[in-house]
Amino acid sequence: MPFYYGFGYGMDMGYLMVALFALIIGGAAQAYIRSTYNKWSKVRAGIPGTGADVARAMLEQGGAEGVGITRTPGSLTDHYDPRDNRLHLSDDNYRGASVASVAVACHEAGHAIQAAQGYGFYRLRTALVPVVNIAQQGWVVVLLMGVFLNMFGLVKLAIALFAIAVAFQLVTLPVEIDASRRAVAYLSAYGSGLDEKGARSVLTAAALTYVAAALTSIMQLLYLLGRYGSRGDE
Ligand SMILES: [Zn+2]
Repeated sequence: MPFYYGFGYGMDMGYLMVALFALIIGGAAQAYIRSTYNKWSKVRAGIPGTGADVARAMLEQGGAEGVGITRTPGSLTDHYDPRDNRLHLSDDNYRGASVASVAVACHEAGHAIQAAQGYGFYRLRTALVPVVNIAQQGWVVVLLMGVFLNMFGLVKLAIALFAIAVAFQLVTLPVEIDASRRAVAYLSAYGSGLDEKGARSVLTAAALTYVAAALTSIMQLLYLLGRYGSRGDE
């Protein structure tokens, strides 16, 4: 989630602390996933097939055989898109046969299986998406309007909208952890010869980026509550 520095007179020590925290914890999480991914992308999975092949097998085993697999540009851009019901795997993971490629591809297959099986947190997260889009795009505008027009009701609405975005990030955590759990379970059952520890550490590092994002948002929400939550005169 982007940070908005242009608050006008919203800038103060508290905000600087939150921004610094976001920079450090977000940067550390990004650096950790990059280095863990790089390390395990040099180790061959030792099982037949590429990331795409192994994901295909996992989809079939998980009852999601109708899901497509396609390539997407970039690095670590892998995702499952419920709108076209496809795994979008980055080139490295689509063609690659490393521990990292197979782990990430299976994690995305895990999301598709969550969708196919109607996993509760996945359904909740998907249902929240339209509301969250509005909340994420609107909260800053509503906050600025509230501050400049001196309307406390709008400020409270802005904080409520931001809280929806935070709740969404919290619901994302079990969805991500469950997709990784499914990937590791599949690989330990069907990927004999694969270094399970490697798959686990790649997926843990990926999960930490979501934890960092959620922590940052919680800090930002606490800041907003402290700064605007109880006063109408700013
Ligand atoms: Zn995921």
